[in-house]
Amino acid sequence: MDLQLHGKRILVTGASRGLGYAVAQVLAQEGARLAINARHAETIAEAAARLRAATGAEVHPIPGDVSQAPDATAVVEQAQDALGGLDGLVTNAGGPPPGRFEDFDDATWFRAFELAFLFHVRLIRAALPALRASDLGSVVAITSISAKQPIQNLVLSNTMRAAAVALIKTLALELGPEGLRFNAVLPGWTRTERVTELLAYRAQQKGTTVEDEMAAQARASALGRMGEPEELGRAVAFLLSPAAAYLTGVLLPVEGGSYKGLC
Ligand code: NAD
Repeated sequence: MDLQLHGKRILVTGASRGLGYAVAQVLAQEGARLAINARHAETIAEAAARLRAATGAEVHPIPGDVSQAPDATAVVEQAQDALGGLDGLVTNAGGPPPGRFEDFDDATWFRAFELAFLFHVRLIRAALPALRASDLGSVVAITSISAKQPIQNLVLSNTMRAAAVALIKTLALELGPEGLRFNAVLPGWTRTERVTELLAYRAQQKGTTVEDEMAAQARASALGRMGEPEELGRAVAFLLSPAAAYLTGVLLPVEGGSYKGLC
């Protein structure tokens, strides 16, 4: 199937590594024109250079901390300037720290709110005029399967992801009449550096090893393995694309059957 992404102008935030980078890689392979973001200028420039070398795609690196209001707006403006508009936006960033309810004070909750929820609001708000001007305006938010099934020791993430999917569903309803589409992907355990860090924390808490925890997590999915970042990247590319023109308000789990509920 041709996803018809060739030449489409797309901003992917949180894209120097992990899921965001994998999304950018799939989009670049599909011939999209990209702006990619992460906090540090050098790191995101290196990621852009790697993508250009591997795919020949047009990739603009845009540094900025999307959890901060001025940066979130500036990143969107710079992406629009570099690409001459925007057809798509992928909202992604790092996750909040692991821990239990009693570990966190208000300041940490506010930081998690900005990093895992409010950044979606700020990026989408800034991008709306450009998305409205496109024939294909489409947003995909990267959230987590924890929006459906909370994960142990991740109270900050669990809480913010639920709010994020509620936001996406609401935007789909509010702005669907204008032809804009809003979808979310809910990744399960996917092999990235953040996951290695989280499983190291869990191993330390339980007195096991990272390898033990990775094997246990793999066994918890119906497919018996963790996901690969490219598998999540392909799902995002499909949802963004004109091939998914009748899909909006979809909260798509990409988790190899580790979620055990009915809906
Ligand atoms: P990661 O830490 O490997 O990568 C995060 C990327 O975002 C990096 O490029 C980092 O530089 C960038 N980033 C972090 N904070 C940023 C900020 N404030 N502004 C701009 N860029 C920022 O994480 P990942 O595993 O790729 O996960 C991406 C998101 O998906 C996270 O929110 C994570 O919690 C969530 N998630 C991941 C998994 C998984 O299994 N990997 C599962 C569920 C949810």
